[in-house]
Amino acid sequence: MNNIRKHRIARRVYWLRKYKLACGCEICGFNKNAVSLDFAHKDQMTKHIEMVSRRGGNGIDNLYKRLCIKDIKKNRFYLKELINEVRLCRILCKNCHAVETENNREFHNSRKIAEARGGSYKDRKNSPKSSTTLINFFN
Ligand SMILES: [Zn+2]
Repeated sequence: MNNIRKHRIARRVYWLRKYKLACGCEICGFNKNAVSLDFAHKDQMTKHIEMVSRRGGNGIDNLYKRLCIKDIKKNRFYLKELINEVRLCRILCKNCHAVETENNREFHNSRKIAEARGGSYKDRKNSPKSSTTLINFFN
């Protein structure tokens, strides 16, 4: 990894941590350390396809690393996607997030969600299917 890339990613991490601390846990108010604060998706179906398809991924963590130094336009697109994703999330501490996930059974449904959105769980290049498929998923 070259230095510019390293520096830019570090800056994003810094920015994301600052944001998490500023918000604090939406449920219990914890805001002591950004490491214990997660971006939790309000709605699993709007989760970025790159994030759904990665097993055990930390969601946003997969997006902030997407960087294109040579192509400013492409980079701006990546950044826009990251910001959009942040907007779709609320901040929860690890504790509250775990309880919330269990309550929503998010973990058990992640494969189904990925399949409803884009076919194969493993193939993240697949684009999301039409909304009819998503409606069928919930029925
Ligand atoms: Zn909490």
